[in-house]
Amino acid sequence: MAVDTDATQVHLSVPLGDAVREALADVEDASALSRFPRAVLERLGKLGVLRRRWQGPFPGDVVFGARLAEEVARHAPTGVAVGVSLHTESVLSLLHRFAGDSEYLADLREQALDGTAIGALAASEPTGGSDLSAIRTLAVPTADGWCVRGSKKYVSLGAVGDFVIVLCRIAKADGTPTERLATVVVPLDRATVIREHEKLGTHALDTVAVEFHDVHVRADAMLGRPGLGLANVSYGLTFERLAVGAQVVGAVSRALALAVEHSERRVQFGAPLRSHQHIEFKLADVLVELEVLRAAVHEVARQTMDSPMGRPLVARVAAVKVHAARRAEHLVSECMQVFGGAGYLTQETPLGQMWRDIRLARIGGGTDEMMLALVAGELTGSPAEYGDAVRISA
Ligand SMILES: Cc1cc2nc3c(=O)[nH]c(=O)nc-3n(C[C@H](O)[C@H](O)[C@H](O)COP(=O)(O)OP(=O)(O)OC[C@H]3O[C@@H](n4cnc5c(N)ncnc54)[C@H](O)[C@@H]3O)c2cc1C
Repeated sequence: MAVDTDATQVHLSVPLGDAVREALADVEDASALSRFPRAVLERLGKLGVLRRRWQGPFPGDVVFGARLAEEVARHAPTGVAVGVSLHTESVLSLLHRFAGDSEYLADLREQALDGTAIGALAASEPTGGSDLSAIRTLAVPTADGWCVRGSKKYVSLGAVGDFVIVLCRIAKADGTPTERLATVVVPLDRATVIREHEKLGTHALDTVAVEFHDVHVRADAMLGRPGLGLANVSYGLTFERLAVGAQVVGAVSRALALAVEHSERRVQFGAPLRSHQHIEFKLADVLVELEVLRAAVHEVARQTMDSPMGRPLVARVAAVKVHAARRAEHLVSECMQVFGGAGYLTQETPLGQMWRDIRLARIGGGTDEMMLALVAGELTGSPAEYGDAVRISA
């Protein structure tokens, strides 16, 4: 497959769906994976898909990014889709927006676009997941850079990636913590993996706990300005959250396609399940919600591209993410229901695994509650309309 690249435009020689299927082709028995298959990102890089996502002015083609997340989730376990989006959305958005004039970071960005270097994001700690202002990992200034010291509880892609963007607290030279946070790139071979988490689902995504034992990084490994670390991470996570909405669309599409097929093959009471209207309408209901979710994801992606400086629309993205994540559990479960007992048997159908995998959408990239906090900030009353319309008697 050829890719035609110039400075601003990347043309894939085949439709995105074909490119994704090609990238996934070498992944044998994806459902049995216990680590992210990095060959998928390497292949997507080679095929030009990652550059196609980030072509043109910042923030690149966000709609394409959503389509990519959906396609991967449609054809691979959710864990693979989460890993791909982590790199293409969180990591690459941060490298595009905040590399500044650092040649080191610009070079890393190019490698990340080619899929030859894979990045992760380490923000959450034992002391802070929702409240990232509570993190304790320190970046202590040295003569020629920073000394990173501390631990991170969840680093997805941490066992297979090449570098990690670490949210740190800037310390004084004597190690005393300050109130200022920053994002620093650390090569993953300098981090110590202390635990590979056993998870309910998304086994195709390795998520590890790591420690940094006085890891020295160069001065230009700092992404963006010191003091703005939290804003940087929030920024990258907004792209990730939109991708979570797209992953839900892809995963539910897969579950629905399997359930529709089953409803046509399985005969009960002398007729295919689908001919029983309650089953067909159950499936139609899933399709209704799927179409609405897809439209919402694409619309907010488009709005982000049209917004000033391509700023992601934090509250709208949060609204889409929390809605998609909450509905995902129900929608996959409805598809599972069509399989009866076989839906519950993990040796017979993937539906149970898909149900467990998609549950992560309510946590990863920020929980439902944190999304609602962002949405709540947009709640506005209308004094004029209230004055005209409401007559409450004493
Ligand atoms: C499989 C997996 C992969 C992950 N990968 C990564 C990764 O790659 N990088 C990374 O940095 N992190 C990662 N995380 C961490 C994830 O982002 C956090 O788990 C998440 O943000 C929640 O933080 P917490 O676990 O500390 O929960 P807590 O912050 O302790 O929250 C517990 C519960 O309380 C709620 N809550 C907290 N504060 C409030 C409030 N003020 N009002 C109402 N409700 C509140 C939360 O919504 C949640 O329901 C991963 C997590 C998992 C499970």
